[in-house]
Amino acid sequence: MAGQFDTDINPMSAPTSKGLQVLLVDDNPIQLALLRYLFQHAGHQITEAKNGAEALILISSAMPDIVVSDCQMPMLDGYQLCRLLKDDRATRHLPVILLTAQGGCLSRFWARTCGADRFLVKGREMNSVVAAAEHLAEVPRRPRLEGLVPKIAEDNFSIESIQRHLGRALEQRLLESAMRNAVSTLYTADHNSRSLAEGFLGVVQELILPGAVAMAYLEGDHVKAVGIHGPCAPASRRTELELRLQESLQLDAPPTIAWTEADGSEERGLQLRHPVVAGQPIGLRGHAHLGAVALLLEEETWEDQQRLFDIAFDELARVMGLERSHALLYQQAIRDPLTGLYNRRHMIELLDHEVEQARRYGLPLSVLALDLDRFKHINDAYGHPAGDQVLGVAAQRMSFALRKVDRLARMGGEEFLVLCPRTDLEGARLLAERIRAGMEAEEVPGLPEQKVVTVSVGIAVLDGEGDEVPTLLARADARLYEAKERGRNQVVS
Ligand code: GH3
Ligand code: MG
Ligand code: MG
Repeated sequence: MAGQFDTDINPMSAPTSKGLQVLLVDDNPIQLALLRYLFQHAGHQITEAKNGAEALILISSAMPDIVVSDCQMPMLDGYQLCRLLKDDRATRHLPVILLTAQGGCLSRFWARTCGADRFLVKGREMNSVVAAAEHLAEVPRRPRLEGLVPKIAEDNFSIESIQRHLGRALEQRLLESAMRNAVSTLYTADHNSRSLAEGFLGVVQELILPGAVAMAYLEGDHVKAVGIHGPCAPASRRTELELRLQESLQLDAPPTIAWTEADGSEERGLQLRHPVVAGQPIGLRGHAHLGAVALLLEEETWEDQQRLFDIAFDELARVMGLERSHALLYQQAIRDPLTGLYNRRHMIELLDHEVEQARRYGLPLSVLALDLDRFKHINDAYGHPAGDQVLGVAAQRMSFALRKVDRLARMGGEEFLVLCPRTDLEGARLLAERIRAGMEAEEVPGLPEQKVVTVSVGIAVLDGEGDEVPTLLARADARLYEAKERGRNQVVS
């Protein structure tokens, strides 16, 4: 039966110059013959195995360019073969195409989860198997590690030995998915960059012990870095991690890492035999770096667990990306885009909270309502863009005058509000006067003529039980109006 196909090869189709070494694995001789025909016809070299175990023996003696395997086979099936190949550094690069039976949705699922590069349905998709193989063979992948012997070849190829390797491969898979899960669940409802970073160190620290792991991340515009280390990672070695983080993120200076020493236990006291420093920037494709990780660990761990680290870093990039988008969206929701100050809605939220706190603890609280004087004139005289420029400068000058506890918002147009927690009338007056004076102290840069902008301010202090946010704001507004009436550029309280 097989010979029938052999003699059928069309002599006119010359083998392509880059004939691939294809390993075909199938227990069904008819299926095998069909595959043989298809690949030879396209000019590729083939070797054949009747099951996964035979395939392993062949791969151990000569590495093919690609494996095309059936799923259901005796001894060692296609999924198991694929797991073993993908688990081994020596064969990880080897592309695997699995051929699944028609209509088995679970078989597709397994084909995907065992690490197969492609899966095709027998019969229906058979005519594209050669093209798929040629395509996969061209895709750049992990560099092939020359000279490495597959782990299984160091053993014998007995059933027991294969079972043992398979068990280990499954365990490794489990470890990888546990790692992915552990990192991805760091993104919880009350996450922030720091808790993400610390959570990540917590996840990987067991893996690198007794070494050290550090992570740098952005908090606002600042680079922060946290690290955890075993007792055998002295300060001098830890400095290398700082340099690695600096290099990864192209910083002007190494970040200062807030180090924690891992809880003592015997294995943590061990020395590293062949320490290596590894690390890399963390980022999503097409995005700027979100942070970086640096590791000090046993060389063997780094090499053996490359995939696990890759998964951890990939997942970290994903959750940091989520966290970054979330933070960005939040900032967009609470800020006014022109001035970067809080918007009205967020200020009302802050007010609700602070008024409640002030009531509960019997603390004073004041608000300043501010409005730029004759702002309409600026728009009319110099145009709307110049007006926008003035709003930006005014916002900056007000911010400079504030104390750390004060909160400033643009309530709309050229109206602003300062929330001053724990501040009585006297304190509020001082602050208001500082803002008013700061505003008129210099001309506004960027306008066609030298022009001083002034501001009027109305102050209200939280007053007794019946006072609520709306009544408080109404009082501040009434005093602002009074300041305007009295001639502008002044404070009324
Ligand atoms: P007063 O001293 O009484 O406060 O006079 P005023 O001219 O500042 O007050 P008025 O409320 O009459 O005018 C405010 C002007 O602010 C009118 C409006 O066109 C302008 N304005 C509101 N929002 C913006 C903005 O985002 N950009 C610019 N350029 N102008 C704005
Ligand atoms: Mg105004
Ligand atoms: Mg106004």
